[in-house]
Amino acid sequence: MIATNDAPYFVICDGCQCEFELDFAQQTFIKKLKDKGAPFVMIKCQKCWRHIKVKLNEYKKKEMWKCPVSQCDGWVVQVNLSEKYIDGGLQWACGECGSFWRKKENLIKEVLESIEKFPYRSVYYDVKDGIVKPSELSDLPDNSKKIESEPDDVFHDYERG
Ligand SMILES: [Zn+2]
Ligand SMILES: [Zn+2]
Repeated sequence: MIATNDAPYFVICDGCQCEFELDFAQQTFIKKLKDKGAPFVMIKCQKCWRHIKVKLNEYKKKEMWKCPVSQCDGWVVQVNLSEKYIDGGLQWACGECGSFWRKKENLIKEVLESIEKFPYRSVYYDVKDGIVKPSELSDLPDNSKKIESEPDDVFHDYERG
């Protein structure tokens, strides 16, 4: 399996307000129409099955960071956790290990530490002139075996900073 940074695209349904990930067929469909210059496309919401209009010029990739936590092969995205956590608000969270960061700079700090500890992880990020961004590569190597065998994380709290 090849992890691709190109993969999940997210859409918010204006009917039920849920945020869902487009499936492969929907992504292909949208890409085709976008290449043809269509201004928008109608797709079905995966929760309420209403047809929703996706404006193609506003359709963008969600910023995804490879999770820097040891042994975790997941991705960190910005989510609104206000309903789940008391002090809530927008945070950066990993759906795989449950870690979350209140500040992006703290996430980036851990990203840099993870590259230092595990150099093969550097493929997931672009580090240039002190600025760190998620890698733009669409075909990322599968490092799951190496990640699995990393030493246990010393920091056991879900809240990372
Ligand atoms: Zn919906
Ligand atoms: Zn994680």
